[in-house]
Amino acid sequence: MTNEPDCISFDDLVSAIETKITAAGASSAVAKVLATNCATCERDGTLSHGVFRVAGYLDSLTRGWADGTTEASVDVVGPSYIRIDGHNGFAQPALAEAGPVVDQALDDTGVAVIALRNTHHFSALWPDLEAFARDGRVAMGMIASGKLAVVPEGATCPVFSTNPFGFATPVADADPIVFDFSTSSMSHGDLQLLRAEGREVAVGTGVDSTGADTTDPNAILDGGGIRPVGGHKGALLSFMIETLAAGLTGGAFTYEIDAEAPDGAHTFRTGQLFIVIDPERGGNDAYLGRVREFVDMLRDAGMDRQPGDRRYANRAAAAERGIPITDSIRSLFD
Ligand code: NDP
Repeated sequence: MTNEPDCISFDDLVSAIETKITAAGASSAVAKVLATNCATCERDGTLSHGVFRVAGYLDSLTRGWADGTTEASVDVVGPSYIRIDGHNGFAQPALAEAGPVVDQALDDTGVAVIALRNTHHFSALWPDLEAFARDGRVAMGMIASGKLAVVPEGATCPVFSTNPFGFATPVADADPIVFDFSTSSMSHGDLQLLRAEGREVAVGTGVDSTGADTTDPNAILDGGGIRPVGGHKGALLSFMIETLAAGLTGGAFTYEIDAEAPDGAHTFRTGQLFIVIDPERGGNDAYLGRVREFVDMLRDAGMDRQPGDRRYANRAAAAERGIPITDSIRSLFD
């Protein structure tokens, strides 16, 4: 139901995305998880991974790059260690399938290491991380996302993906603190959005095909590369993320993936690693309250913008008025 003429309700948006993804060949279970994830990003203002990404999901399905009907295999290889083979399906439904064994591992041991491989993941991490935090868990996640895009200082070509990392913690009597960012100067999605708007980026964001600094998103995206965030420190975070999310999980390192492979090829087969902890297992039954005091101290000290504040404000506005209709949303109804 539309609340205002230029807005759409969350449920209607999920249903419109679901229809598109099902029509492209995904099972209804897979389409539901992907549509909910996309609509959640759109509603909360992560537009780089909202409805803008639907075209990518459809393309991956229709070209045979991702299998929208497969079911993941979930193996509990140690009391806390869960390995998931996504069989070239999408990562979010594979993670959802493992829900019961993840809960069991957390109940039994207080920790769950979730290693996904052979999956597609080109969304934001925070929706899955926030769900863990709302269940009282601390969670972190990282992705070897499969698109070579990042050129560290000294390299002559992209060697990393934008390798996002996310963290979520519950907080006493408040929404969880959840943050989630690419370890590059800018996410690939944001760069594509700026290109579409004809805008420039700051010097230091990326380089052109000759390795020279450029402010033109076209030059960065077409043959150039994005710089890591924070120079060598961001490059080393990418090193860690590729090592854990690809090397340790058994997924492909980004450099091994040919994103330009022909139709029907299994191109991505990436990996993700999640580490989830029951914060009260340490025997210090005061975790949530102590984090609350910590966050209050930060706000009192002037850090009054905490991660999640923007998304929670957008979510509240969408609950009241609906989600603003963009061209991407309009195209769902073409
Ligand atoms: P952003 O810079 O948009 O946001 C980073 C985080 O910092 C957010 O949690 C944000 O909170 C928080 N934040 C922003 N400004 C402040 C501030 N002033 N003080 C405190 N916290 C702040 O991240 P990116 O553009 O790098 O990434 C966008 C999304 O893209 C992420 O969700 C990421 O997972 C996703 N991504 C996915 C990839 C994939 O391969 N699947 C690859 C790369 C990125 P808030 O949300 O409230 O604004």
